[in-house]
Amino acid sequence: MQINPQRAKQLVENLTHITQRIQSANKRSEPIRLIAVSKLKPATDILALHQPPLQHAHFGENYVQELLQKASVLPRSIRWHFIGALQSNKCKTLAEQIPNLWCVSSVDSVKKADALEKGRAAFVARLAAEHTIGESAKSADSGEGRDAVAEAVLRIMVQVNTSGEESKSGVEPSDALALCKHIRTSCPHLQLTGLMTIGAIARSQATTPGNENEDFVTLKDTRDQIAKELGMLEGELELSMGMSADFEGAIAMGSDEVRVGSDIFGERPPKKDAMVVEKG
Ligand SMILES: *Cc1c(COP(=O)(O)O)cnc(C)c1O
Repeated sequence: MQINPQRAKQLVENLTHITQRIQSANKRSEPIRLIAVSKLKPATDILALHQPPLQHAHFGENYVQELLQKASVLPRSIRWHFIGALQSNKCKTLAEQIPNLWCVSSVDSVKKADALEKGRAAFVARLAAEHTIGESAKSADSGEGRDAVAEAVLRIMVQVNTSGEESKSGVEPSDALALCKHIRTSCPHLQLTGLMTIGAIARSQATTPGNENEDFVTLKDTRDQIAKELGMLEGELELSMGMSADFEGAIAMGSDEVRVGSDIFGERPPKKDAMVVEKG
């Protein structure tokens, strides 16, 4: 893959600038995770940020086919987040075919959780079989195999529709607890790590550090309630909220993870023009 050095320099500058803005907005001691949202952008853009000097690890994608293709050409050390609208019939493939899928952030039904569980279970079974075969051949101890299996747990965020807009995916805030419980009790290969919201565009445009965004308030209240019900500490159930237009406001409201695309990579092309590997 050929990386344009000028493009790489620009991307490194952009991401460095976003990281600085996150750090100055963050008043807590724990760092905030930055997902660089690379949907519809070429694999070379991702590689430019994943290689030195930044070695950025967390990237977010919205389309299963595009993610499968990118994951197959990019290093395994990338931590992929699937953040897009999720279709039930793609869940098993997603969880089974991408070893370095780190988190699925957009789970909004029991059906999708169950399909992800099935996919991850199949992945883990394959991994365990490969290790058993490899180890009996060289008769080594199985510590490495156990670690690989333990690391294969797939993190899950439940997407909550905090704005009440019909066009938005996500469970109603009042239905989030039941889905969280289901993941914790019935999906052993999944690990519930938090709640995610996108929120209304109009509210995100009006979001400033001094102007509390209602979507963020709703997500935080929902999280606090669920954490209490499930006997979890608030910090064990993360908040994923904030994008290019509103991440500083989201951090002020307690976000643990922001998802920033256009402020790093620039405007996105229409989906029909997007290319994973650029030609020529
Ligand atoms: C595209 C997308 C983002 C990034 O949006 P920007 O405004 O480009 O920063 C974040 N979260 C989700 C769920 C997205 O689909």
